[in-house]
Amino acid sequence: MADIAQSEKSGKVVIKNIGLLLSGDLDRPVLEADTIVVIDGLITAVGKFAQCDTAQADLVIDARQTCVAPGLIDSHVHPVFGDWTPRQNQLGWIESTMNGGVTTMISAGEVHLPGRPKDIIGLKALAITAQRAFDNFRPGGVKVLAGAPVIEKGMVEEDFKELALAGVKLLGEVGLGSVKAGQEAQQMVSWARKYGIQSTIHTGGPSIPGSGLIDKDVVLEADADIIGHINGGHTSLSEAHVCELCEKSTRGIEIVHNGNEKVAIAAARAAIELKCPHRVILGTDGPAGSGVQPLGMLRMIALLSSLGNIAPELVICFATGNTAKMRNLNCGIIEIGRAADFVFMDKAQHTAGRDLLESLTLGDIPGIGMVMIDGLIRCGRSRNTPPATEIPIVVH
Ligand SMILES: [Zn+2]
Repeated sequence: MADIAQSEKSGKVVIKNIGLLLSGDLDRPVLEADTIVVIDGLITAVGKFAQCDTAQADLVIDARQTCVAPGLIDSHVHPVFGDWTPRQNQLGWIESTMNGGVTTMISAGEVHLPGRPKDIIGLKALAITAQRAFDNFRPGGVKVLAGAPVIEKGMVEEDFKELALAGVKLLGEVGLGSVKAGQEAQQMVSWARKYGIQSTIHTGGPSIPGSGLIDKDVVLEADADIIGHINGGHTSLSEAHVCELCEKSTRGIEIVHNGNEKVAIAAARAAIELKCPHRVILGTDGPAGSGVQPLGMLRMIALLSSLGNIAPELVICFATGNTAKMRNLNCGIIEIGRAADFVFMDKAQHTAGRDLLESLTLGDIPGIGMVMIDGLIRCGRSRNTPPATEIPIVVH
């Protein structure tokens, strides 16, 4: 299933009989509500059924007491073009990831493009082309925010201005190109910031032959908006240095699936202890050498909820509302005016957990029963997760 962006409007959608409504907002992660109303892709009401205007809906969904949460936001992916990744020569990875509850992906650079240009005009042209291409094409309905240039030596302020004017809003991971020194990176990051382009930096050892080490001093000096894969992608800095980054920087703490799992837990725990859980965001860093992980975001949520000993309703905020706030996205939180991007989940069949949240604290991933993007149903029972115990049904 592939879609031209925004080609179809949802009309009025009523989702009723929600058993657990997770907001994605750390300040109030669980909502006292059982109904969501959507009009043309945007949430117009959240509350108790009797208090919502549910008349004359085009689509009514009975959630059958399952959990509804904002669609997951993967903060760190490496798309190329279409629903293809040359990294593992695989087709359909984005649509497959939507079956894992992901409704938005953020590019950390289109670095796997065969023959990727490294000259300045070439890298700018690639970024603008990728931004346009994914703006016009959504595999499985997923919103892929792409066009993230990898900065190279020789770029000047005018280059960042030009990129911003052309619609580029992200930098690819700083450090994947020839700019690896802290001061040089800091200069370019600040030019990017001046023109409204958000930055992220590669943290840790080289990912694949040809990439390099970025240590904690470079990360601190560069001062990018997001400390990209703070737990390494794949090889991590020492736990002590990662905790130092959490403490000394005020920037986003991005934890990824394709990193060091032990350090993932240490970074999340450090953020909790430093009383800055709002800085924690999650991603996969896929596709990568470890492949494509359609359930990577769910696995991160289960990891941090179980071994990380963090309440699962908070961990889900790391994968939704925190990222939306940090990256100024109109999704990721269930509130009026935001995009109707939802994942319907229930405890997986035969988990030892009594309910969804307990199953996560035990380390099991949930089953997905439906995914909605902009108020449109993108899949029913996920083909990738273990089967959900209960799934929502379309009433009419
Ligand atoms: Zn990286």
